[in-house]
Amino acid sequence: LEKHATLKRYLSPQTVINKLSPKMQLLEISLHRAIKQHDFEEFKIYYQPIVDIASGKIVAAESLLRWQSPELGLVYPTEFIPLAESTGLIVPLGKWVLKKVCKQIKSWRDVGIYPLILAVNVSAIEFNQPGLIEKIVKFIDINGLEPHYLELELTESMIMQDVNSAIATMNQLRSLGVKIALDDFGTGYSSLIYLKNFPINTLKIDRYFIHNVANDPQKSAITKALIQMAHNLNLHVVAEGVETEAELDFLRQHNCNSMQGFLFSRPLPAAEFEKFLLTN
Ligand code: C2E
Ligand code: MG
Ligand code: MG
Ligand code: MG
Repeated sequence: LEKHATLKRYLSPQTVINKLSPKMQLLEISLHRAIKQHDFEEFKIYYQPIVDIASGKIVAAESLLRWQSPELGLVYPTEFIPLAESTGLIVPLGKWVLKKVCKQIKSWRDVGIYPLILAVNVSAIEFNQPGLIEKIVKFIDINGLEPHYLELELTESMIMQDVNSAIATMNQLRSLGVKIALDDFGTGYSSLIYLKNFPINTLKIDRYFIHNVANDPQKSAITKALIQMAHNLNLHVVAEGVETEAELDFLRQHNCNSMQGFLFSRPLPAAEFEKFLLTN
């Protein structure tokens, strides 16, 4: 009965739920409960290092959400983020992530782990919510952060939903000092005409292009061109999903600034990331 009441409160019309598979229904009920009743305690933020290729130093980390559900086990964001987006639950969830990451920037700074940029993935719905800037200002102020240690990761497709308003929001963020990265670059559909107008700092080349880049003539041609273009636009360029030495060698040879991937480290819980930092 309690389950039913929860469902009714947040899913209307009721017919929507009837069309979902039993697995999706469970996912949705559990996600709702994790956020609304269990106060985010089932969520954990992992951090994956981003390494400067020339120096080998960790210069940043991307925060990646994990959900340990009592009913479903460990759930990855590719499964629950789309659902969080379609139900609007991404708004409180995204706020929680931003808050936690800002706190993390402060606590790592306090123990001398500094300077380290922490990146947060932002969904379209969150990005388009009024009040996003105010939220960010608040978390920055509470923790006394220098804003350039926070980077937001946006995607081309979310920016393209309403380009002018997205550019305005990005400009506001930039004037605060917050950094902006364009995530999964090359998989969206923004034109290069727009790219030059995006007030971004960083371009993250999607891992599709990086996988086997050294041995695939088409991927290497595209990746080389993307790195060159990013540099011509004065952007910092990060390669995502680097898994092999051959991929890293290729990126080094073509002056890609930074790399992120399993070759260096998987995403780690905060405490393990901290240990990893102190030994690398
Ligand atoms: P993303 O932002 O592109 O994050 C990179 C994804 O690639 C992560 O998957 C990461 O674990 C994975 N990855 C990193 N290195 C490698 C590698 O060498 N090989 C392979 N095969 N994969 C690698 P993850 O953690 O499953 O996250 C998937 C997506 O979920 C993210 O893609 C992001 O779009 C979204 N996401 C994650 N956390 C959040 C969050 O807090 N908020 C929002 N809105 N979205 C999030
Ligand atoms: Mg990302
Ligand atoms: Mg990405
Ligand atoms: Mg992605």
